[in-house]
Amino acid sequence: MMSTFSDLHLSISMNWLFPKICIVCKVNSQSILCPNCMPKYVTPVSQNSNISYLYRYKGSIKEIIHKFKFEGEKSIGKFLIISLDPKYLQQFDLIIPVPCHWLRLLQRRFNHLNYLFDFLPNFNAKLVKREKYTGYFHKLNKQERELRIKNAFNVVQGERVTGKKILIVDDIITTGTTFNELSNELCKYNPSSIHGLFLAKV
Ligand SMILES: [Zn+2]
Repeated sequence: MMSTFSDLHLSISMNWLFPKICIVCKVNSQSILCPNCMPKYVTPVSQNSNISYLYRYKGSIKEIIHKFKFEGEKSIGKFLIISLDPKYLQQFDLIIPVPCHWLRLLQRRFNHLNYLFDFLPNFNAKLVKREKYTGYFHKLNKQERELRIKNAFNVVQGERVTGKKILIVDDIITTGTTFNELSNELCKYNPSSIHGLFLAKV
């Protein structure tokens, strides 16, 4: 009885000291994301025949991606893909993330794409390496991006790509330059198809 009372007292004190709030909009919330900010159920939207995305990069989705990717809020990342039908991902033989350069990984301290997708049996982050440090792209135009990303990727186990249905996964799509470059590199090894899935479209 005493312990129950103490637990209750502790819980009230903790809630008072550290009230639960939504990490995005800061309203009181039972969960780290309030119902308004929680990503809604989605099916991938086709941008064209070989690129799909889940959300538009704005509002709470933009905040969630930013906090997940740059501020180390790992726990909210999973909400971005939790409502994605596993059957969608199972239709591919290989899921390949756009690889991160080791210098970028050092800055960010974790590989956010691997963190999201590495529970999938068809996920493989070791087939492609990013050998060129390309810096940030947000201030570059399409031509500058194309020049910067040229020859950035090296497919290290090309024979494992041959004849496979491939899904490239990445976080944000703007011009599609990075996807095109990686796709072209993989195409040299004759996969049966290549599709891209992005968390959000700018
Ligand atoms: Zn909220």
